Amino acid sequence: MNRRDFLKVGLGLGAGFAGAKFLTGNNDSKLLLENIIDTAYDSSSTNTYYKDTQNSKVELPQLTDDASCDVCVIGGGLTGISTAFRLANAGYKVILLEADKIANQASGMNGGQVLTAYECGMEYFEDKFGDDVARKLWQLSLEAVNIVKDNIRKYDIKCDWQSGTGITAFLEKHVADLEEEYEIMTKKYHYNHIRLLDKKETRDLIDSDLYYGCLYDDFAGHMHPLNYALGMTKVTLTNPNASLYEKSRATAIKFNQSGKHIISVNGKYNINANFVVLACNYNNSLFAPELAYKVTKFDTYVLATEPLEAKLAQQLIKNRMSVFDSRNVMNYYRLTGNNSLIFGGGDTFGKADPEKVKATLYTEMIKTFPQLAGVKIKNFWYGADSMTLTLAPNFGRLYDTVYYAQGYSGQGLALSNLAGVVIAEAIRGQAGKFDLFAQIKPFEVTNIAGVQNAIVKLGTYYFRMKDYFGL
Ligand SMILES: Cc1cc2nc3c(=O)[nH]c(=O)nc-3n(C[C@H](O)[C@H](O)[C@H](O)COP(=O)(O)OP(=O)(O)OC[C@H]3O[C@@H](n4cnc5c(N)ncnc54)[C@H](O)[C@@H]3O)c2cc1C
Repeated sequence: MNRRDFLKVGLGLGAGFAGAKFLTGNNDSKLLLENIIDTAYDSSSTNTYYKDTQNSKVELPQLTDDASCDVCVIGGGLTGISTAFRLANAGYKVILLEADKIANQASGMNGGQVLTAYECGMEYFEDKFGDDVARKLWQLSLEAVNIVKDNIRKYDIKCDWQSGTGITAFLEKHVADLEEEYEIMTKKYHYNHIRLLDKKETRDLIDSDLYYGCLYDDFAGHMHPLNYALGMTKVTLTNPNASLYEKSRATAIKFNQSGKHIISVNGKYNINANFVVLACNYNNSLFAPELAYKVTKFDTYVLATEPLEAKLAQQLIKNRMSVFDSRNVMNYYRLTGNNSLIFGGGDTFGKADPEKVKATLYTEMIKTFPQLAGVKIKNFWYGADSMTLTLAPNFGRLYDTVYYAQGYSGQGLALSNLAGVVIAEAIRGQAGKFDLFAQIKPFEVTNIAGVQNAIVKLGTYYFRMKDYFGL
């Protein structure tokens, strides 16, 4: 199940604005990337279930002196942590800078679903690059999930890993889409971890009257993302090659005479580095104007119930898989380790009233599970991620020595781990996997954030309407 329709309309809308694109790429060798602190609106709230249940504290120092390293990683989400971890293991001296707290943004507050494939769907890659490239990208998406599972196993990270995810058919006609997806994935991609469930089998597993069927995947899964990210941070810290700093915002990047990068931190200290990795999600574009029109920032919302009685939880989702439905603008949910139900969705672009979204999300949850009426909502939070107009991820290089990965489009929990691995390989001179991603060019409409947001917003309303009328 993918959002091909969304792409068509998104691109259709986008094409109308193509003439408005302003190129701001800067080929001057004296690169100056200024990070303008984004004060447009507060895009995250940190009242998360994950913070309430985090199983360790990680306090990192603030940078208080000039320093030098092989690679400076900017951003302490999973893209940054994974990159720093891999490079430090490969013998590189790495400095990671986090503006705020480690894993305090998307990586530590997401829905926790560790998924295969990509938000754009495999057909997008087939159409654009052919079956061979699509198959390689599919394999990499499996590698992404395996990286997470291996890390959990190898480093004994306690993060409530639970195997199993399901896409549920929200409309009867979506059953045919699931069947088609099943055929393609089993026959073309030889993926044998999926199973089609009919209406009754689905109803037996999920105690909701909403669905007509389900495509179940026992290889993907879900977890407590903050405990995972903190676990990986602690493992990274055991390597003396890695130095990680919090409250250390990169504010500018320059080249010096000898071709090294100088990264200003908090406007006070300088780091000298041969390579820079931009791992700041939607904030990458604040450094590099040429990234501004590649991704759009969107907010997404999650609520968590108080812990449910074990019997009720067991009844709700019998096999404890995570679930997302087949609508264009869908909801997703899962049971946590302590039997809270996490329920997410309600994507918005630009300023929105969180309380209104919370009410909508709550209504959606009760429509799905009427038996939860009266159950207390313990946490409600929202955070931002970056998306491309094609919903395919966006990896690239600036000036050969600055790498970035962004635009996971809401499906970045596994992918951010993979991004760290392929960026580290590329810096070590093995760029095969990185280049596979880097060839995927995002559809660029305009670098005027407001216009790009408006396009995506329009597309989202269109699809909400389609969902609403069951079209
Ligand atoms: C509410 C929510 C639910 C989601 N659910 C899912 C899900 O269920 N499954 C899934 O696969 N994906 C999900 N996602 C998407 C996924 O979480 C993200 O794609 C992924 O975590 C992005 O990781 P990242 O490291 O690139 O970015 P982030 O985690 O956003 O990290 C970027 C970091 O860069 C730091 N930074 C920014 N500017 C600077 C600077 N100048 N200097 C230093 N540091 C800086 C920020 O403070 C931040 O910590 C969800 C996202 C959200 C917000």
